[in-house]
Amino acid sequence: MESFDSESAPLPRNMIENSMFEEEPDVVDLAKEFPSYPIDSDDVVYEPRSSRLLVRGLGENDLDEDEEDYESSARLLGMSFMNRNSSQRSAASSYIRQQPSGWCSMPSAWTMVVGVLILVLVASMIMVIYFLPGCTFTRDGCKKTMDTVYPVSTSGELFPWTELRLPVSVHPVHYNISLHPNLTSMTFQGSVSIIVQVLQVTKKIVLHSSDMKIISATFEGKEVKILEYKPWQQIAIKFPDDLKKGQYVLNINYTANFSSSYDGFYNSSYVDTTGAKRVLAATQFEPLAARKAFPCFDEPGFKSTFLIKITREPKYISLSNMPKAKTSNLSNGLQEDEFEKSVNMSTYLVAFIVAEFSSVSKNVSKTMVSVYAVPDKKDQVHYALETAGKLLDFYNTFFEIDYPLSKLDLVAIPDFLAGAMENWGLITFRETTLLVGNHSSHIDKQLVTCVIAHELAHQWFGNLVTMRWWNDLWLNEGFATYMQYTSIETVFPELDIDTEFLSIRFRALAKDALNSSHPVSTVVSTPEQVEEMFDSVSYEKGASILLMLNGTLTGEEFRKGVIEYLQKYTFRNTESEDLWNSLSQIMNTWTVQKGFPLVSVKRNGTQVTLTQEHFHLNSENTKDSSLWHIPLTYVNDSCSALSSCKQVFHLKDKTATLKLPAQVKWLKFNYRSDGFYIVHYDEEGWRVLNEALSVDVNILPREDRAALINNIFALSRLGKVPFRQVLNLMEYIRNETETAPLTEALFQLAQIYRLLDKRSELNLVSRMKSYIFEHFGSLMDSQSWEQENSVSKITLRSALLEIACSLNRHNCTTQAKLIFDQWLASNKTNQIPSDLMTTVFKVAAQTEDGWTTLLDMYKYSNYDTEKRKTLEALASTQDVKKIILILQKSLDGSVIETHEFPFVINTICKNLPGYLYTWYFVKENWDKIIQKFPVGSYAIQSIIMSTTSQFSTKTHLVEAQNFFSSLGDRGSQMRIVQEAIETIKLNMLWLENNLNTLQNWL
Ligand SMILES: [Zn+2]
Repeated sequence: MESFDSESAPLPRNMIENSMFEEEPDVVDLAKEFPSYPIDSDDVVYEPRSSRLLVRGLGENDLDEDEEDYESSARLLGMSFMNRNSSQRSAASSYIRQQPSGWCSMPSAWTMVVGVLILVLVASMIMVIYFLPGCTFTRDGCKKTMDTVYPVSTSGELFPWTELRLPVSVHPVHYNISLHPNLTSMTFQGSVSIIVQVLQVTKKIVLHSSDMKIISATFEGKEVKILEYKPWQQIAIKFPDDLKKGQYVLNINYTANFSSSYDGFYNSSYVDTTGAKRVLAATQFEPLAARKAFPCFDEPGFKSTFLIKITREPKYISLSNMPKAKTSNLSNGLQEDEFEKSVNMSTYLVAFIVAEFSSVSKNVSKTMVSVYAVPDKKDQVHYALETAGKLLDFYNTFFEIDYPLSKLDLVAIPDFLAGAMENWGLITFRETTLLVGNHSSHIDKQLVTCVIAHELAHQWFGNLVTMRWWNDLWLNEGFATYMQYTSIETVFPELDIDTEFLSIRFRALAKDALNSSHPVSTVVSTPEQVEEMFDSVSYEKGASILLMLNGTLTGEEFRKGVIEYLQKYTFRNTESEDLWNSLSQIMNTWTVQKGFPLVSVKRNGTQVTLTQEHFHLNSENTKDSSLWHIPLTYVNDSCSALSSCKQVFHLKDKTATLKLPAQVKWLKFNYRSDGFYIVHYDEEGWRVLNEALSVDVNILPREDRAALINNIFALSRLGKVPFRQVLNLMEYIRNETETAPLTEALFQLAQIYRLLDKRSELNLVSRMKSYIFEHFGSLMDSQSWEQENSVSKITLRSALLEIACSLNRHNCTTQAKLIFDQWLASNKTNQIPSDLMTTVFKVAAQTEDGWTTLLDMYKYSNYDTEKRKTLEALASTQDVKKIILILQKSLDGSVIETHEFPFVINTICKNLPGYLYTWYFVKENWDKIIQKFPVGSYAIQSIIMSTTSQFSTKTHLVEAQNFFSSLGDRGSQMRIVQEAIETIKLNMLWLENNLNTLQNWL
């Protein structure tokens, strides 16, 4: 899945150095107690703590892993789990089996034989435990005592299962699913027939089902009773006698309403160009919502085949993962589409759509690729079709495994929350991430290309080879994100994707520097925790560490390893694991520990002392002894601009010494910022780099210059360098012309500007503005406002002009107004360069007339990228009444689609007038918000960070703490809540420590 970033520059993060506050209790993140462990010792077998804990909680899942025949991607990939040897594994298993699972059985004949007394004793114990105060069956469970007590199902009978994860004694083999969605009554009827394989003798079958009414069920043709335990979205059938090993058929008939949120089988509507309302039904199952559309074993490890049939009115078409096999006319005037039997796949990848769509298609090697959209937008699908074709060719060649289906559909859904979803053979997108109109800029195309490249990569990483459980989501998302940049760099070099990837890595570092971060591979069990895995750690840090790994290998090694991995676990052959084995030595430390290292460099002649420590913005964690295996790269003044200059030193210990062969003027570590760490030099080290840059910026590649800027701001937050030193380095920026360093500098300064603005430090705000103009003013004024094709130039001028106009730079606002007026006067035929639209519209939105004109445009525009830019302008108004209107409209979904609500909030909160009001609005409407967006989801994460990340006072801290703790199970346990509180505290401290410096030096 592609989370939809509310904006190209991610949310503002914390700013800061040492912190005095207590570490927050961390329910989610067990990694805090992470023991330090020796690295690189062959004797020590390391098992990630998280996975061990996860296994312990699985009850009947606790089979010996050798008995499990589905993929545990982490184990298979040879990273997190690679080092386990068999003796360790059996030791772990025996430990696991100490769980008294037999204890939990229902009273049996055996207990009666033993005697009534024991039975009574056991029963009374169960009663006592059950009625213990506080022992309720929440999603978090009831700790140790709960394992021994069965929950009560909806009917009042005891439910025969006590875990969130399903038992593995029964596996699904194949599903026949028939669905009849009724787009008038907004309900659907379904029947599912599941062939199950009983692997171990059992008396129960447990599976998932949510929000549906079960009409009838049969097992092997005989009617059976279904028990339901709603809090865990599970249903079960209890059998009086043992089910022997073998295959059986379970049938369930049910009805349900379409989902009112953006997951499950949901209905969506839009208004076409004639003003008529059109409806459609679509699915979004990842991570946990297939169970809302049909009863199923809804965990990624339970792969199965699917045969889907859909009944519809003749005016609609239906689509699913596989090609359509046949259509039959039914007696009631309806038609039934039947799709081919699917490949073996996880439930979260199943998809179907019923809609009125138009499409274009073309053959790409053996696959028919099609792009679908609503008929009004059929002229906007061609770019996606061409792009998907080129990328499919690239991946077929790169992975040396052909895409296995005969068709691949890409569908733009009018109302869709995520950025896109990689359903096998039926990828769904937002309209803005798939459709490209005539006026779209190269940046719009860059976004569409990125999303298509990401979702296509998932057809291999995620679909073909799948993580067994959500704790290793990064194997899906990290790889797909990494591959999206790799493929685009090769296939579309003109899109300048390297700069984008670099800034993504910087944002991932900022997030991972917080205590509230988590290891890439981390324990998850509740639905909220699963939702929360879709964050920048899984995606961007995952991709960053893969880039670092690739950088340490030579030639084709990385690709060969990837191919070997895919082949091995698609076709289950047992090739040598040596390659990944050796890679895992490096990767272990990066996947199981949260955070990243700070490398300090001290040079004395040719002797360089290197030290690593955890880069932790919260300095309370001084005892942290995490160590990473860092493939440390470096260049020096004699050779620095070419890749061949790069040298590598493996830093595995706390401290090491590097001996240089000759004297150098300066050293720069982390060549092109390919590694996921931050580097600090001693005073002399920074001074010589600074000096060299001020003479000639080209002594280092642009990525290195951007990284120096990024790193020094981060070091100042950490308290390692005074802010004065940051400003010293920034002096070179007047000679800078490259996009990556300039946009990074602007990003950092804008963050500080916003924080000061929100604190109403008026004097400093105006001095900061002068500082920005002094350093970037001439560059801002020299930007062209004409059509421009170079992505790099467009990216730079958008960033410069957006800040210039938002700070009311006269040249900028005058030009923007002029362009807007000319555009209106020409009846919108006088094109505005698409990358400048947001800037121009934002200036226009500040007047009454301009805002009203834009609102009308928003309502009637048929181009979604243009619409989004218009919405951003509308939300940037300084008029609080208009802000209230937009907030209400977007939450209700009237005029503004509800999926834009997080984006609207993010935009409003950047400016002073609306940000406090928005916080109150979110608090006031919390229950309504979490009905639309799942607790823990990316949308909720974005809403929380947008509204709180610029707070920097005690009053706001207390207010935020009180609000979040009042939420209880409506969100108080979310990791993002800890991140929000931590960020506010860090903001407070940063201002406390730096207000004086800013007064003195700005
Ligand atoms: Zn994804």
